Amino acid sequence: MVEITILGGSNEVGRIAILIEANKERFLFDYGIDVQTGNPPIRPEFPLTAMFISHAHIDHSGLLPELYKRGWKGNIYGTKPTLGLCNLLLEDSIKVQRKRGQVPHYHPQHIKIMNSFWKTLDYNKPVEFKNSSARFLDAGHIPGSASPLLETGGKRILYTGDIKFADTKLIKGTRIWDEKIDVLIMESTYHYKNHPDRKELEDDLRELVQNTFYNNGIVLLPSFAVGRTQELLSILQDLGFPIFLDGMGIEATEIILNYPKFLRSPKKLRKAFGKARKIMKSKDRKEVLNKPCIVISTAGMLSGGPIGYYIKRLYQREDCAIALTGYQVEGTVGRRLMDTGRYVNEGLDVKLRMPPHFMDFSAHCGRDNLIKLVKKTNPEKVIVIHGDGTTEFAEELRGMGFDARSPANGEKFKA
Ligand SMILES: [Zn+2]
Ligand SMILES: [Zn+2]
Repeated sequence: MVEITILGGSNEVGRIAILIEANKERFLFDYGIDVQTGNPPIRPEFPLTAMFISHAHIDHSGLLPELYKRGWKGNIYGTKPTLGLCNLLLEDSIKVQRKRGQVPHYHPQHIKIMNSFWKTLDYNKPVEFKNSSARFLDAGHIPGSASPLLETGGKRILYTGDIKFADTKLIKGTRIWDEKIDVLIMESTYHYKNHPDRKELEDDLRELVQNTFYNNGIVLLPSFAVGRTQELLSILQDLGFPIFLDGMGIEATEIILNYPKFLRSPKKLRKAFGKARKIMKSKDRKEVLNKPCIVISTAGMLSGGPIGYYIKRLYQREDCAIALTGYQVEGTVGRRLMDTGRYVNEGLDVKLRMPPHFMDFSAHCGRDNLIKLVKKTNPEKVIVIHGDGTTEFAEELRGMGFDARSPANGEKFKA
């Protein structure tokens, strides 16, 4: 018998943590933080047998060092890029927590301890425990992202992490795995819609850039450091326009380039990154505003990062443009801009004259592919997490004949 508890991230995008117990072994999958509030999931009790991390994004990894602060001494399994990227994002998360006026959940020394317990696990390489075994499948979401498959208590349990089946410029999407799965724990960020055609979307972005240049304007592309920054660089590199990179995306790109085998065309990305101008000191920012250019800068949801500097100076210019290119979590500055057209941040509350665009360059599966995944794997049980409106989606899947549910955070159930 297997017991599963969703400790966080059930009916929300953020603070993912999943506990799976069978035969006296206890595994933790992801241990994230709520990106907007810094709230943790429910803390798992010790002992834990081992922990698996699907990918580096902070909603999946943000609390990992806290396990070691609390004295845990177990192994954590992740891919190589995930380790490199986690170090960058976790260091930053401490700074963000401090900036919010919170006492950080952990300190840099706990990241070091975490590193000493890190076990690199490549895709499709099994790791054995006394009564269980596990391996990673490719998740197609960001470089190094994985979907852990655990065999325990006579069940095969797949946790998708964040997944994408379609290819992007940066990485190849994953295919729906040809695996027997008894319990499918799935993300459902975009259960309510499909994504636009990727090629058309890329053309739209390139056109927006060209039109803005024609007007002598600047294009602001707020972007997540990991994944989106590199994707935008790859899409825009051959236009021949100057691209400035600002914020954490610079270091994230350096780290990602260390793992070429996880990329679709590392050469192209290396070239694009080489050509891009990197803003390393705040005094260099002034120069960016002098002539038409593209600025790719954190934060992707506009809460924090250098992007605020540029918006503050450009929001009254109709000849400039801003495009949000990722998921905007409820409560973020970006979500507010999307819903109301107002930019409310750092003492400003303004309507942008610089027209805002919303372009869905998602690294997640859209609705049809999520449903396809359930139909093709045809599991005994489907657990829907990581989304707004997960209960509705579970109900929909039940309507299609699946035993699907979206448990509340903290609810323990048997599989
Ligand atoms: Zn993610
Ligand atoms: Zn996520």
